Amino acid sequence: MARIVMKFGGTSVATVERIRQAARHVKREVDAGNQVTVVVSAMSGKTNELVGWVNESSKLHDAREYDAVVASGEQVTAGLMAIVLSEMGIESRSFQGWQVPIRTDDAHGAARIVEIDPTELDKRMTEGWVPVVTGFQGIAPSGRITTLGRGGSDTSAVAIAAAVSADRCDIYTDVDGVYTTDPRIDPKARRLNRIAFEEMLEMASLGAKVLMIRSVEMAMAYKVRLVVRSTFDDPDAPQIAPDGTPGVPGTLVCDEDEIMEKQIVSGVTLAKAEAKITLRDVKDKPGVAAAVFGALADESIVVDMIVQNISDDGSVTDITFTVPDSEYDKSVKALEAARASGIIEYQRVTGSKGGAKVSVVGVGMRNHAGVAASMFKALADKGINIQLITTSEIKTSVLIDDEYAELAVRALHTYYGLDKPGA
Ligand code: ADP
Ligand code: ASP
Ligand code: MG
Repeated sequence: MARIVMKFGGTSVATVERIRQAARHVKREVDAGNQVTVVVSAMSGKTNELVGWVNESSKLHDAREYDAVVASGEQVTAGLMAIVLSEMGIESRSFQGWQVPIRTDDAHGAARIVEIDPTELDKRMTEGWVPVVTGFQGIAPSGRITTLGRGGSDTSAVAIAAAVSADRCDIYTDVDGVYTTDPRIDPKARRLNRIAFEEMLEMASLGAKVLMIRSVEMAMAYKVRLVVRSTFDDPDAPQIAPDGTPGVPGTLVCDEDEIMEKQIVSGVTLAKAEAKITLRDVKDKPGVAAAVFGALADESIVVDMIVQNISDDGSVTDITFTVPDSEYDKSVKALEAARASGIIEYQRVTGSKGGAKVSVVGVGMRNHAGVAASMFKALADKGINIQLITTSEIKTSVLIDDEYAELAVRALHTYYGLDKPGA
């Protein structure tokens, strides 16, 4: 007998019919003698609709009320899933974040889970019930409802898996695993049988939204066995692991040392809507970078790629960096305000929205020289101009024109041999 947390994403619960399909997966596990807790997202598109209504009501709304509204999508699907499971003869009860409780901090709209009390879930599972918990939401110290940020149900599921000491956390979605790149961009993308936590973390933070970044961080920290698999597979088909043996189908996210064959590049990712900002002729003196990025941090703006040029005569320099498109106007305003109050000295600020960041990721890059160089060559062969570059131990990212984004992803996917089976 195993204890399993099963999370179903938005497309998997988009209609009552799909909730039934998801519930059949739950029934299979229960019938096999396993203890199960289910975590659900809102029906796909629902959270966007709720966010839209909040913004339509007032651009300057209170974050506590935003949470009160957008958390409601999960309440609906949790109740429906419990009803459908009960109808199938499985004793089931829905739980909202506050009923578990899932305690978070008070950062409304982007709350972090602080503690989950496993008592009630433990009790229900031991008695043969299937608790169905709303993903994405928790309760703040003030007692008000919080949400964890978009895509947060993945994090709810992993956190619950850690709290109830589950043997596995299965993330059911609309793809049958983690792919070498987004299958919607490159039909030649292939499913990975296994991916290391570090690689998944990089891929998630570089644009692969199949798992929320924080869910991967948490799985890594608490050693949760995480599997990404499809809701749309036949629930009654024999369960076959990727190696052909009986087991769990999908992609296992695991420790690096559980992966025998390490690829140099495991995946290619794409993040769009990246804005580039350049400060021209910045007074080059100690503390200048601290002043520039301090001004942005004070506005809670997250900066990504940064390039500072060496000045010719040591007096002035140019600094270029990227922020999400949505933060572009706010960033320029913050920099202009910092110049007006004498905190930074520069000639002018230029920039543009709508860039694309393309990255290659792989733990094998640690022991292989020349991955960055070969990436630049592959892009040059397609006539794609690189605007900015950043690297880490296991990834190289470039900023390019949005127009070439998909072409670049496909070119790199082919170049690193990811199209071929067995890679
Ligand atoms: P859910 O609603 O189940 O949480 P998401 O839409 O958040 O599902 O995530 C699944 C989607 O992630 C897939 O439909 C796919 O288009 C996208 N995706 C992006 N990169 C990858 C990747 N490398 N592997 C698999 N899916 C990916
Ligand atoms: N429903 C939330 C969202 O759309 C959380 C999730 O689906 O993970 O962001
Ligand atoms: Mg998701």
